[in-house]
Amino acid sequence: MPLPRTREKKLRQRLAELRGPEVPAKALDARALAALAANPGCRRRALLDGAGVNKAALAGALGSPAAFGQSQFALTRGNAFEARVKADGGAELLRLVHEKLDRRAEPPSDAELPELTAIGPEGRTARTTHALRDATATGGWTLLDHPMLALDVAGSPAFLEPDAVVVHPDGSWTVVEIKSFPMLDGSADPAKVGAAARQAAVYVLALEELAARLDPAPAVRHHVLLVCPKDFSNLATASAVDIRKQRAVTARQLARLTRVQDIADALPEGTCFSPDLPAAELTAAVESVPATYAPECLSACELAFHCRDRSRADGAVTSLGRSARAELGGLTTVEDVLAAARGEAGDPADPAVAALRRAAELRAEALGGAVEGGATCR
Ligand code: SF4
Repeated sequence: MPLPRTREKKLRQRLAELRGPEVPAKALDARALAALAANPGCRRRALLDGAGVNKAALAGALGSPAAFGQSQFALTRGNAFEARVKADGGAELLRLVHEKLDRRAEPPSDAELPELTAIGPEGRTARTTHALRDATATGGWTLLDHPMLALDVAGSPAFLEPDAVVVHPDGSWTVVEIKSFPMLDGSADPAKVGAAARQAAVYVLALEELAARLDPAPAVRHHVLLVCPKDFSNLATASAVDIRKQRAVTARQLARLTRVQDIADALPEGTCFSPDLPAAELTAAVESVPATYAPECLSACELAFHCRDRSRADGAVTSLGRSARAELGGLTTVEDVLAAARGEAGDPADPAVAALRRAAELRAEALGGAVEGGATCR
């Protein structure tokens, strides 16, 4: 349900206050959304991303800078490869879409390449919507280079920019992802393909939201085209990737995200995440939003080092990983776990407590045996 205009305006104002005066909003990209959907219980990330806070700058100001991201060299190489794939009006890219996804259609020649430039993300999104609607009605091939799509995330719009969207002669839409990692003998690193598929799933969801507003609603294909360098050359090769599973998981996770408005409403008056503030003030602001740290955050969120330090300092079992956390049931700190194992606390009928006590007994037995064994040896 869209927010009423005044409420939406109020929310935007509140989010701008949270970013700080004169701090521009950082647009959410599909990579960030895929990561956000991977940890839907984290209110801290949902709020910071929803407010457009630059988490890398925030982590630096907190004294725990992020240690991941693409190198400048990788970005330049990726951009050069993408430009090559899209040269000549996208002829090679359209050939690959035809070959991998729609062989029955007429081969693409004289494809349309609509102009999509406009002022601001809202303007670009409107331009993309018109271009997609017009292209769907033409019955030919159309290539949209860097269209802009909007997706409602926790009550706020996120603007997303896929590498390309292709409209087929039958009016259906395909997402194209261009990556610079190599495809060797037709297959690529499964972890990288998985990350690309999760990202593409976010674009597919945004396209489906748009398609649902058109009448008749065009079909959004659930096979996306992944384009990569062939072996270690500069030549392009491609593979159709089925993203149905990633789409279903991401849709479910995004629906579970707590609404940004509710998180913002629970914050103390005057909370602000501007990186210009003193570290102590920023730390208090960040700590006022609950987080659910897990080791997976280290490869997905810029605040990971900060949250990990806090989680360790609090003795939270989440820092041990999600599976350990799940098995420990209601025991949330390492101190609780040790007390339960020693028999000083916890309900013995609780399976987690019973398992801990049994483990402690076995450990004591093993250590006792080791001491006796050592004595025999002497
Ligand atoms: S690093 Fe912190 S803010 Fe980021 S997802 Fe993990 S717990 Fe949330």
